[in-house]
Amino acid sequence: MTTSENASGEACPAAPVNFIRARVAEDVSSGKNGGRVMTRFPPEPNGYLHIGHAKSICLNFGLSREFGGVTNLRFDDTNPAKEEVEYVESIMRDVKWLGFDWEDRLYYASDYFERLYGYAVELIKRGKAYVDDQSAEEIRQSRGTLKEPGTNSPWRERGVEENLDLFARMRAGEFPDGSRVLRAKIDMASPNVVLRDPALYRIKHVHHHRTGDAWRIYPMYDFAHCLSDSIEGVTHSICTLEFENNRPLYDWILDALGVFHPQQIEFARLNLTYTVLSKRKLIHLVKEGITTGWDDPRMPTLSGIRRRGFTPEALRDFCERIGVARCDNMVEYSLLEHCLREDLNERAPRVMAVLRPLKVVIENYPEGQTDEFDFPWHPEKDMGSRAVPFSRVVYIEQDDFREDPPKGFHRLSPGKEVRLRYAYYITCREVVKDEAGNIVELRCTYDPESRGGGTPDGRKVKGTLHWVSAAHAVDAEVRLYDLLFTKANPGAEEDFTACVNPDSLEVVRAKLEPSLSAVEPGWRCQFERLGYFCADEKDSKPGAPVFNRAATLKDTWGKIEKRQGGR
Ligand code: ATP
Ligand code: MG
Repeated sequence: MTTSENASGEACPAAPVNFIRARVAEDVSSGKNGGRVMTRFPPEPNGYLHIGHAKSICLNFGLSREFGGVTNLRFDDTNPAKEEVEYVESIMRDVKWLGFDWEDRLYYASDYFERLYGYAVELIKRGKAYVDDQSAEEIRQSRGTLKEPGTNSPWRERGVEENLDLFARMRAGEFPDGSRVLRAKIDMASPNVVLRDPALYRIKHVHHHRTGDAWRIYPMYDFAHCLSDSIEGVTHSICTLEFENNRPLYDWILDALGVFHPQQIEFARLNLTYTVLSKRKLIHLVKEGITTGWDDPRMPTLSGIRRRGFTPEALRDFCERIGVARCDNMVEYSLLEHCLREDLNERAPRVMAVLRPLKVVIENYPEGQTDEFDFPWHPEKDMGSRAVPFSRVVYIEQDDFREDPPKGFHRLSPGKEVRLRYAYYITCREVVKDEAGNIVELRCTYDPESRGGGTPDGRKVKGTLHWVSAAHAVDAEVRLYDLLFTKANPGAEEDFTACVNPDSLEVVRAKLEPSLSAVEPGWRCQFERLGYFCADEKDSKPGAPVFNRAATLKDTWGKIEKRQGGR
């Protein structure tokens, strides 16, 4: 078992049978809703989707797939002030990228504004809603507390006709923002504060990105959400735990109107270590320029981790492994990386790149000569091969040479022999330094008999280094990403930006093997011995590649622990 599996503790059994699946299975077998299953993913278009949303998407689309049902994509766009078209477009792109399809079921809560208005009028007619003239402050003060009941509004017993007239005039834009609200008439003494005559509609003279200036009143989330589910015929409304207290309100609204009643089921939202998943905090990172945007590869957004090099397969695997729970928990970030490594280990081509080049001159290799070696794209899979040139000057990793090697250092050092991967054995003869004493070059010799990596005398070497021929190397910018935060739970800090990792990005000028000069943006590979990398989808150009490190080859957990001095 790897560290990352350990680290995730009980949170990652393989393919868990979760309680939501069990519940839906029960409804299907008992013939509820005629055995039909319809779920929905209902984002509010006020930010980009993040890894937490991926959990909800996988859950909703996964359930419908498993039970032969369908899943709708519905934008919960009832709060016009905060919503933008850019978000709508990014959300659709991200859901598709994750591998799910809402087919022709793309909906907007705003499409239902007229129907929702009709439902509100119906509630008024049934004596179950009233227009309240109190100010927001007065309403708040009369709501009571967890221990004390609230008090009735002086406008609570208004007649139906008067309520209908006032509500129509609210819609017509006769009153200023905040002067009146429509409230449900439930019970100001209910032990559940949510049921103390909650607001259903508020006046807002605001332009809406889809309905324009047609509306001067907008439905509250609680009113719009449960009725949108009902209108679409959603059978199972899956949502996060914070809506558990609201469920009695949804039940009340649906029953008061006598409309189709979806079953709400709550689950715990995903929390990830070293990550923030609150949209408010993510917006802050973007607006304050702490990251370069929503798609910065350090962001936990789907567009960020896609750009970093994550695959939809790895993300779906992650969501499957973490399962769903009824209590809040924290999942280790290393599990996410582990899922990526498992996926890319299988299918990422192996290539050679030197991130911090050290020049090696092979003195007995003829000038102007070039050898070609046939390198397989993958050590185990049949992915074919390509030719990699070798010449008198090659680059190796600075880290792979030590002038004074510590015990157990099997890479290159003065007088030592190592294997250049798939090519020749070389021996270090001389270290060349500049005036400041920095090592700038190694003079080596090679053994022509060791072509392909072995010698007739069967001589063994311990170290194998990756390398790139200097004459053929492609220059590239490589961005080495690390965790964005230095604390395991940045959201719990007073100021989460205070623990932004100053070393979350290091940019190096690397040397790549020539086959990488024309890679397509988004192309993923393993740089041998270094990690998984992805050609940046925005900045990488054929001829001028830019690579992002998606993950190191091994768990970085130990390193993080050390940096933190334990958790
Ligand atoms: P935030 O509170 O950060 O603004 P949100 O829940 O309001 O997030 P929505 O756009 O309303 O964001 O979310 C759409 C769906 O995704 C909802 O059904 C919500 O329950 C789910 N979701 C959001 N965050 C998470 C998370 N961290 N884990 C699981 N599901 C989530
Ligand atoms: Mg929300």
